[in-house]
Amino acid sequence: MTTLAASATAPTYTGVLINGDWAEPRSGRTFDDLEPATGERLAAVAAGGTEDIDLAVGAALRAFRALPWARTNPTERGRVLYRVAQLVRERAEEFARLEAADVGKLLPDARSEVELSAALLEYYAGAANKVLGETYQAGPGKLAYTLKDPLGVVAAIVPWNYPLPLAVLKVAPALAMGNTVVLKPAEEAPLTALLLGQVALEAGLPPGVLNVVPGLGEEAGQALIDHRDVAMIAFTGSTEVGHKVMHAAAERIAKVELELGGKSPHLVFPDANLDDVTRHVATGLFKNAGQDCCAGSRVLVHRDAFDEVTSRLKAAAEAVKVGDPLRDEGVTMGPLISQRQRSRVHSYTTGALASGACLVTGGKELAEGFPEGSTFYAPTLFTDVRPEMKIYQEEVFGPVGVVVAFRNEEEAVQLANQVPYGLAAAVWTNDLSTAHRVAADIEAGMVWVNEYYAHVMEMPFGGFKQSGIGKDYSLHALDAYCQVKEVTIRL
Ligand code: NAD
Repeated sequence: MTTLAASATAPTYTGVLINGDWAEPRSGRTFDDLEPATGERLAAVAAGGTEDIDLAVGAALRAFRALPWARTNPTERGRVLYRVAQLVRERAEEFARLEAADVGKLLPDARSEVELSAALLEYYAGAANKVLGETYQAGPGKLAYTLKDPLGVVAAIVPWNYPLPLAVLKVAPALAMGNTVVLKPAEEAPLTALLLGQVALEAGLPPGVLNVVPGLGEEAGQALIDHRDVAMIAFTGSTEVGHKVMHAAAERIAKVELELGGKSPHLVFPDANLDDVTRHVATGLFKNAGQDCCAGSRVLVHRDAFDEVTSRLKAAAEAVKVGDPLRDEGVTMGPLISQRQRSRVHSYTTGALASGACLVTGGKELAEGFPEGSTFYAPTLFTDVRPEMKIYQEEVFGPVGVVVAFRNEEEAVQLANQVPYGLAAAVWTNDLSTAHRVAADIEAGMVWVNEYYAHVMEMPFGGFKQSGIGKDYSLHALDAYCQVKEVTIRL
């Protein structure tokens, strides 16, 4: 365990957590975790290697087989998860400040994500003892029933945009169902996952039940998905790495749950309340600096409302105050996560311009007046975009949206479905029939009407098409972390 100098956001736990102990990584290496708003080093974090992953999976497997976690009364498993939730709440401000610094988030957003994480822990704590099987009277003298067995060691691999809630979304249902876990957080923002490991220990989670190994994706991540003793890979991240996860799982027929990228549309009909549309579409575009799997990055607008919506969105984009969320006043959007991500976002902008799109506003890296090494980007909008363009088809993962006109409902749905992704969508109309018809026709795992980010934790979250397989949130998530066994008895 490496202890850093104390400061408002200095992290304490930056080693590997294996079998209930913090240790320096066997790899002997660390990587720099940078604060995107300043470009400065926030922490030197353990770069877990193949040996660390092997030790962590070994500890998780022993905990699964030898310790009674899987056979613990589910009510008791739930109690431990409640204690984890309680400790997250007690240290909520520490979690929130760490997350805000590590990702470049607004502090209020980071606080509500910590609150969500605690609520999710409570939800799955409460769900642990409500998992029931089926019985079937299979004729005279025969009784059949089902059991929901845990899988074993679950590899949980998560990205950097919502580090704490995304980690909890894997860890909580996996543990509730009696599995053990190796969590590999993203190298860009690993700190709150490490703190989660610590509070889980303090809450009384037995050694080896939750192991946390930070490290690089190609090294620690790849070693984890390739490990023969990992029974299931629960992955949130890009579709590109999702392919690798499926390949690795295919080698040994391991189970996968994938929450991947998106290119989500708004469908704005002319009868919609345009004040609501402007507010929510701007949130859908610029929240978390657009680094959101559900970012509503394709704004499809009926041609009668197109000019009005475009000019309102331009004004909304230009009203965004970009800055350091922890040090500047009145900031409404922080930086991108890294220099690499900012270059990637900018290459989409230059590519869109080269292919003939019209830049309405933004389109530039923000350097003047910002610290050297920081990663700010201007809120950006394009019109004159055709569906075959990359800016229409691919996930940018930055504050960049396109506004495209449609003539009628049929064309709106066709435009919405014309991408490989299918995560979320929003329909804006006051006509109930239009709302129901369009919601039914859209190829997306979540459809919201007259609101964006309307998702609630009690409902399933997950994509269609290349946005993934399986569901996070809700009781549906529990199904991913178990296998159904049939038992039939001759009486
Ligand atoms: P990413 O795929 O690059 O990385 C995600 C995680 O995978 C990280 O922990 C990374 O270290 C690890 N990883 C990278 N290469 C690996 C490999 N070869 N083997 C195993 N693990 C590896 O994604 P990102 O850039 O961190 O996050 C952004 C992506 O996540 C976007 O595409 C976004 O849409 C997606 N996302 C999806 C959801 C959802 O619920 N659908 C939620 C949040 C983010």
